Amino acid sequence: MEYEIRIAHLYPNLMNIYGDRGNLLCLRWRCEARDIGVKVEEIGIGHYFDSESYDLILIGGGQDREQRRIAGDLAEKGERIRAAIERDTPMLAVCGGYQLMGREYRTAAGDVLPGVGVFDAVTVHPGEDARRCIGNVVAESTQVDAPLVGFENHGGRTYLGPAARPLARVTRGNGNNGEDRTEGAVHRNAYGTYLHGSLLPKNPRFADRLIALALEHRYGADAPALSPLDDALELSANVAARALSGRTWRGQAARGGRSSS
Ligand code: GLN
Repeated sequence: MEYEIRIAHLYPNLMNIYGDRGNLLCLRWRCEARDIGVKVEEIGIGHYFDSESYDLILIGGGQDREQRRIAGDLAEKGERIRAAIERDTPMLAVCGGYQLMGREYRTAAGDVLPGVGVFDAVTVHPGEDARRCIGNVVAESTQVDAPLVGFENHGGRTYLGPAARPLARVTRGNGNNGEDRTEGAVHRNAYGTYLHGSLLPKNPRFADRLIALALEHRYGADAPALSPLDDALELSANVAARALSGRTWRGQAARGGRSSS
């Protein structure tokens, strides 16, 4: 294989809920179908993260318990992760991983976990009795030419600061907080999102955007163009997901009340 991308998968055993590992499988499949090699390094607690060694960083979701376990280690790696992002390394951070890539996360129990600060965002969990944000999400993003679809399940509400841009605007579901219609965040080539599902198989354009950015990171102007794949099944999954979930955005999370789901 002439080309290869190097992926750092952060805490794959602890941060992997609702099928987030599927994002990695999808990226690998879409690369190998184009004869692009994929090298994955699993980086856990105590492993060294070298800011210059990777073309893409992945971190999935996890509940407060797992987030508490990794928070100290992540803070120790924080400066090198931020350095990689400032060198335009792409990142996909999902849900619990996204929350910890913000400035801080206040858990349901009220502990404050420091974040890496890739995104100018703060997340607050209103407590175990508050309604969780659960369900299918549809969101329009300028990053891709088809609506993003996914599944959310989080208690924490994320609020973006002035330096953060949202990844998308929610048309169905809650997204960051159920109040301002924002979903996720973007900083340089780093993306944070609440969408599981897993996200990338149902959003092949977004998967290709990450692959293109990773190739550009590695090869610069010599990066190959991505040949098109037959995405008929993936796009029909995207359309079917848009038809699911009758609820349009009503800012339910903001009103509180315990979830019945
Ligand atoms: N623990 C976080 C919350 O409930 C993240 C959950 C998740 O990653 N799905 O807000």
